[in-house]
Amino acid sequence: MKVLLVFVLISLAALASARKPFAARYDNFKVYRAFVEDSEQLEEFKKIHHHLQIHILHEIGGPNRSYDVIVGPLFQRAFEQVLHDLQVQYDIIVEDLQALLDESSVDEDAPMDWETYHPLDVIYDWVDEQCDQHDYLECQVIGHSYEGRPIKSVKLSKREGNKAIVIEGNIHAMEWISSATVTYILNQLINSEDEEMQRLSEEFDWIVMPMVNPDGFVYTHDVERLWRKNRRPNGYSNSSGPCYGIDMNRNFDYHWSGAGWGIEDPCDHWFGGDEPNSEREILALQEFVNSFEDGYIRAYLAFHAYGQYVLLPYGHTNTEFPPNYDQMMRIAAAFADGAEDAFGSVFTYGASGLLNYVVSGAAKDWAYGVKDIPFTCTVELRDKGTFGFFLPSNQITEVGVEVTEGLKSLVAKAVDEGIFD
Ligand SMILES: [Zn+2]
Repeated sequence: MKVLLVFVLISLAALASARKPFAARYDNFKVYRAFVEDSEQLEEFKKIHHHLQIHILHEIGGPNRSYDVIVGPLFQRAFEQVLHDLQVQYDIIVEDLQALLDESSVDEDAPMDWETYHPLDVIYDWVDEQCDQHDYLECQVIGHSYEGRPIKSVKLSKREGNKAIVIEGNIHAMEWISSATVTYILNQLINSEDEEMQRLSEEFDWIVMPMVNPDGFVYTHDVERLWRKNRRPNGYSNSSGPCYGIDMNRNFDYHWSGAGWGIEDPCDHWFGGDEPNSEREILALQEFVNSFEDGYIRAYLAFHAYGQYVLLPYGHTNTEFPPNYDQMMRIAAAFADGAEDAFGSVFTYGASGLLNYVVSGAAKDWAYGVKDIPFTCTVELRDKGTFGFFLPSNQITEVGVEVTEGLKSLVAKAVDEGIFD
């Protein structure tokens, strides 16, 4: 009897852990899309979170754009009242966030595929397996996260003298589609029978970092699906206690801070740190990229969600443009054309300071401005806001396909443009 009881208890514990009992739930939480027209409204809008518990999903840039905001049932009426008082127009784009999250199925035990989202150890096991199976892959732990998790890289090289393309994934924890897409691309480069894919894998070296933010990613699986930053206590606190994390795509040292920086609250989801290069994950990434000889890496692509953009340098200004901006625009256009051909998804391209908002510290700006890599970009994957950060898992494969198609034409155009010469 005792043995049976222990067995039942162990089984219950196992079941409970599979269900992640501590993960925050969002039953009846709504997502509002608020259209902030002018800077006066923006100033007030920024203050709402001081007295209502809300979660703004976008970094606050300028006025004249919309912001998606998650609000729990307790605060919805008050939030709507505040927007009404400020004369901020809004739509409710998600009625029940939990229902949406439930569509992003995670099968903790399923082997690696691109039908469902996977936890970190499944992704890493798959990476290790590929490395064991193919001797043209060189795999490395390039450093460790704050909580001590390895940050892994895969370098694919089948031919001496190739130039390299860097692909970076999941620097923002909640953007699960990023690492899903990066591993999809890597899998295509390794295992696809498609001739063009095989040619890409033959004629170029690929340096892939599928998971730059393992701590944040694990945290999004176990505790808080909406987490963006890493998990280092950042030295500040607010009414709910110590604040954690740095937005690592604002931590790179190129024109860091300055215009559009606008950090008022270090507990914000887009806090870029007290100084650039403060995060060990970022230092590991930089040291790794620095370990290659100058001129070897010719393109650097950072995958993010969402909005369907190819964002080019610069981020820190919208009046100054990179010397080869027109060339980068042509290459970005090629990506957009290739991607659209697959399923009709439209990607918009241009300098991030223009298309998004002026902000510094992103990987692509560092890769371009500091490392002199002649084509760099941030690719914001699907979608344009229907599911936003919570793209259902049944879209992973389609995203993989369209991005791979985009990549093929991007590389072809970059070759035409002499990027790899
Ligand atoms: Zn991102």
